[in-house]
Parts: sequence; C-alpha cells; structure tokens
Amino acid sequence: MLNVQNLTFSYNDTPVLSHISFQAEPGEHIAVIGESGSGKSTLLKGLYGEYDLDKGHIYWKDKAVLGPKYNLVVGYDFMKYVAQEFDLMPPLSVEENIGKFLSNFYPEEKKRRTAELIDVVELTAFAKTKVKILSGGQKQRVALARALANQPEILLLDEPFSHIDNFKKQSLRRSLFKYLKEKKITCIVATHDKEDVLGYADRMIVLHKHKILVNDTPSVLYNKPETPLVASFFGEFNVINNTIIYAHQLKVVKKSDLKATVKQAYYKGPYYLIEAHLNGKSIFFEHHDMLKQNQNVYLSLK
Ligand code: ADP
Ligand code: MG
Repeated sequence: MLNVQNLTFSYNDTPVLSHISFQAEPGEHIAVIGESGSGKSTLLKGLYGEYDLDKGHIYWKDKAVLGPKYNLVVGYDFMKYVAQEFDLMPPLSVEENIGKFLSNFYPEEKKRRTAELIDVVELTAFAKTKVKILSGGQKQRVALARALANQPEILLLDEPFSHIDNFKKQSLRRSLFKYLKEKKITCIVATHDKEDVLGYADRMIVLHKHKILVNDTPSVLYNKPETPLVASFFGEFNVINNTIIYAHQLKVVKKSDLKATVKQAYYKGPYYLIEAHLNGKSIFFEHHDMLKQNQNVYLSLK
C-alpha cells in the first residue's frame, strides 16, 4: 500500500502542499484533480522522491520514499513517473527507446515484452520509427510504454494524454488503464480531464488551497459535489437555491416557478447547451433543440 502521511511542502517559502494524507492499494487508480497551480505536479514529484518534504512521510509497503537529501539518485525501482514534459532519446527508434530499459539477458523475452508494450500504447506501426520524427502525442505514448518497461508497482502519470489527439485518446486510455488493472499496478494520475477519471479512477482527490478538499469515489463526488469547484470538473452546472444542479438535470416544461429568458444556444452534438437568464443571472441547461434568443422558457428538475 502507498501511505502518504501529512505531506507538507513549500518551494522556498511558498507553501504548495499542506498536510496531505491518503492511501492507495495495489492496483488502485487514483485521480488527482484541481485547478492549474493547485499542486498536482508537485504532489507527484513529491511522491516520486524528487523533493525533501518540509513535513510528513511517504511509504510504499514498509519502504520509506525519501528525497534527494537521503538518496544519491532520485527514484526507486518499484515506482515510475511520467512527467508532463518527457525526455526520450530522439535518434533512437520507438522500440530502442523502450528496450533500453529492459535486460539484454533474454533477447527473445526482451523482444516479446517490447512488442507487448508498444501494443499497449498503440504504436506498433511505428516500432522502427526514430522518435525525433514523431508527433508530440506519439512521443508521449513512447514515454508511457518506457515507464511500464520494468513493470513498476506504482506509476505516477502527470496529464498523461495532454499531447494526444482526441482520435487516439479514447482507445489509448482504455488500453493503458486496462493493462494497469490487469497487472495490479497502482496509478496516481494528475489530470484536469474528466474523461481520464470517470469510468477508470477508483478514487478522486481534489486539491484546493494546498489541501485535499475531498477524497472519494467519482460517483459519490459526481452525485453529491458539495462545492462548485467539484461540480465544475464534471460539467456545466448551476447553483439554484443553494443547490448544485447540472445543466443536464434541468428540462423545459409548460409552467414552473423558474422562468428564464434564452440568451444563447451552443451546439454540442447530441444536444444544445442553452444559456438563459434567470433573475438577471446566467443559467445553463441542455435541450434537444435550438431555442430562439429572448424566448421565455420554464424550467424544472428532471
Ligand atoms: P499543477 O500541476 O496543479 O498545475 P504545480 O504543482 O505545477 O501545479 O504548481 C503548484 C504551485 O507551485 C504553483 O503556484 C507553481 O507556480 C509553483 N511551482 C511549481 N514548480 C515550482 C518550482 N520549481 N519552483 C517554484 N515554484 C514552483
Ligand atoms: Mg501540473
């Protein structure tokens, strides 16, 4: 188990993380979310042992993860970290970049393993291609495969699909997260993309003002977001009578107490997101059709 106790860290005198505590079981997938600058990347680097903490402890099983003051070389064999900016060996091919981290002792096994990893990140067609001519998204996939090469027990991923286009993202996510679950690799994923979380993460940690605002399952946080910050991660929402109501929870009815005036309709594919004014404030709801500007509508909870 990963056990993080009271992790507290500042850059020089600027506090970034304060009294962060949480646990992760083998094979568990934890998503770390929060606004830009909330400390997601700092937390991952801290977990990796890149910093000396001001306070607190990190344990993987019974082994303490220590910072550079105690370690000549940052990092541990059981843990891999894929940074937002990845460093590969540009003149080498995709398979050479990944193979570099595998033993040459069993060449057949090395070949099999390299091919398996290249398949997980869906780069089989590019196995022999030099990394320097790959796109940003393809490089990010090589970095992911390389981190998996020596079968870590924990994988720390910082915005792992940020450079990957939408065509590839969905299937890569499924393939990678399925592989991690099968191999019981714990993963901690910093992300601002709800698609990385829903359907994959076992728990979500929301960082806010240096602390953990909430730590719960995606379904609990989605159904009871409690704060607008949490709700905003899942989509458009409104605060009506102090209650958070997602745009998709409202519908147009014949008559109700909520009378709004349509201001704007945004095409979203399966529906339109309608922006309307209710008592002088913007409110959002989903509707199957376009609505005309300045048209009055009555809204009710679905
Ligand atoms: P996130 O990944 O959530 O966007 P970061 O962990 O990168 O947030 O940053 C958290 C805060 O720490 C920010 O205010 C950022 O400016 C600051 N910060 C990040 N890296 C450094 C650094 N190397 N030195 C000083 N301040 C930093
Ligand atoms: Mg970051």
